[in-house]
Amino acid sequence: MLKLSGETLSGKGETGLDIAAIQYIAGEIREIHSMGCEVAIVIGGGNFIRGEKLSKIGIDRATADSMGMLGTIINALALQSVLESMNMFTRVMSTITAIQVSEPFIRRRAIRHLEKARIVICAGGTGNPYFSTDTAAALRASEIDAEIILKATNVEGVYEEDPKKNGNAKLLKNIDPADMVKRGLKVMDLTAVTLAMENNLPMIVFNVFKKGNLARIIRGEKIGSEIK
Ligand code: UDP
Repeated sequence: MLKLSGETLSGKGETGLDIAAIQYIAGEIREIHSMGCEVAIVIGGGNFIRGEKLSKIGIDRATADSMGMLGTIINALALQSVLESMNMFTRVMSTITAIQVSEPFIRRRAIRHLEKARIVICAGGTGNPYFSTDTAAALRASEIDAEIILKATNVEGVYEEDPKKNGNAKLLKNIDPADMVKRGLKVMDLTAVTLAMENNLPMIVFNVFKKGNLARIIRGEKIGSEIK
C-alpha cells in the first residue's frame, strides 16, 4: 500500500497538478510494479484542499472535508491517466460515489484487481470528514491484507523534531508506533498510526523525491523510518 500525498502530484510545496511530477511518480511506481509487486495506492488531496484550513475561512468543516475528498478523485484520475500512458493497467476505486469516473470501493473486487496485476488507486479517503487519507491508507491496507504501508513524503522519514525548523533534528530509523503517538511525532496522522498498530501493519516513511527509493525499499534496503 503506497500512500501518496497530493503534494507528490504537484511537486514539492506546490499546489495543483504538475505533469512532470506525476510522470516522475508514475515512473517510480512502474519500477516496483515491473518487479512483480501488487500495488495499491491511496491518494491524498492536499494539493487542492485541506478541510481544516478551509474551515477557518468560513466553510463549515464537514463541507470543507468533502471538498478535500473530491480533490483526491481529481488526483486519482490524473495519476490513472499517466500510469496508463506508460502501459500499466489501473482501476480507480472511490469511497465517494463517482460512478462515471470510478468504481465504488469493494474489498473483494480490489483484491481481484491486484491479483490481475492492476494498480488500484483508492480515492475519496475514508469517505468521512475529520479523517485523513493517511487513515484511509491504514484502513484499506488492513482490509486488503497489505504487507506494508509505504508513506511517501518529501523528508527522509520520522524526525525527533520538525527537520524544516531544526536542520539538526535526528532521524529515527526505527520507531515503535506507541512511542510515536506518545511523543506526538506528526509526520503521519496519529489516527493512521494507531490503526496500523492495532492491525500489526508495519509502515515505512520515506522520501519519494529521491529517485529509486521506492524500488530500494521493495528490494529490502533500509530506507527512511520503519514504524512497527
Ligand atoms: N479528507 C477527509 N476524510 C478523509 C480523507 C480526506 O475529510 O478520509 C479531506 C480532508 O479535508 C483533508 C483533505 O481531504 O484535508 C485532503 O486529504 P489529506 O490532507 O489527507 O491529503 P494529503 O495531505 O495526503 O495530500
